[in-house]
Amino acid sequence: MKQPFGLWRHQAARLLLAAGLSLPMLCASGTAQSKNSDQYELDDSHFHLTNYIQEGTDIHDFLKMMGTKVGRVALFGIPLQQQWSYENSGDYAPTYYLQTDAPLYYYSFTDAYIAMGYRSLSREEQARFDPMITGFNPTDMYAADHIRRVLQTFPGVFSGIGEFSIHKEFVSAKVAGETASLTNPALDRILDFAAEVGLVVLIHNDMDVPFAKEGSPPAYLAQMKALLRRHPNTTIIWAHTGMGRVVRPIKNHAATLAEILGDPAFKNVFFDISWDEVAKYIIATPESTRIAADLINRFPDRFLFGTDEVAPKSQESYLKIYYEYDPLWKLLNPDAREKVRKGNYERLFDQARPKVRTWEAAHAK
Ligand SMILES: [Zn+2]
Repeated sequence: MKQPFGLWRHQAARLLLAAGLSLPMLCASGTAQSKNSDQYELDDSHFHLTNYIQEGTDIHDFLKMMGTKVGRVALFGIPLQQQWSYENSGDYAPTYYLQTDAPLYYYSFTDAYIAMGYRSLSREEQARFDPMITGFNPTDMYAADHIRRVLQTFPGVFSGIGEFSIHKEFVSAKVAGETASLTNPALDRILDFAAEVGLVVLIHNDMDVPFAKEGSPPAYLAQMKALLRRHPNTTIIWAHTGMGRVVRPIKNHAATLAEILGDPAFKNVFFDISWDEVAKYIIATPESTRIAADLINRFPDRFLFGTDEVAPKSQESYLKIYYEYDPLWKLLNPDAREKVRKGNYERLFDQARPKVRTWEAAHAK
């Protein structure tokens, strides 16, 4: 373990030096990246407008929360609806999956809801959102057909698919019907179709099982790598770097990510550092923050900031995680900091938008 950490420190130092020497150049390229870039502090690659009972923030109110801080947002609801089972919780109406033993089920209407919210905005306001399709069942061979139908019903709206989940602590086991799997051909159909259209994919898949034994290989890592390898032409953001609330980063987590990021076979793979449960681990100690910062400084093009907030009520609560990451922002070099907050988001979604529009024009109904 000591050796890889030492190596990162060394390389980060070299990167810092390089960044310091070429700072004016970096600033210039940062400005050219997007005309909006300078106006805002960050973009949010991971945001749920609605919650597990499909209720949430009015999109016009949310724009006010974005304010002058957040430039662009990858916008989606939640594909799963928590059933209110009277048998299970009686008069208590659960709003979160941990509040009842009743099952979750796929709620496809979320995509229409998000599309209609987007369409209620002015053109200028729309430009600040990249809506994502999530209302499909990833165990269904017909899932890709749902995505196609949404694109054809709401052309000009969506840029990607997700966040959808395969292995997710406490959630996967509660979903009604077949259990999702990384080896299911239905998932391959989804990722193939995303590549064909040019959709960005945001996938949640815990790298490991909850409370894994120290030293054991992460349970779903090999299957996830095989999946990523099968889809080299699909742009994939692996949400939360594969961490969960109790799927905790085992010591090797940074080394595992570095191995993926250093392998040209995975050049289509990116990671988001969204969710306060992830921030909790990253900023836990000066050492954990340093390890994360070194990794990001080493691979500055491959990480995206996201909030993973669900239906926020104020800018303060919406951006809480952004400020929690202050110790991390301080340790990133200027180039990496700009890319993680904005540059990588804008590069990926600016590539996706025209591709999806072209596909829609060619497949208009
Ligand atoms: Zn997630």
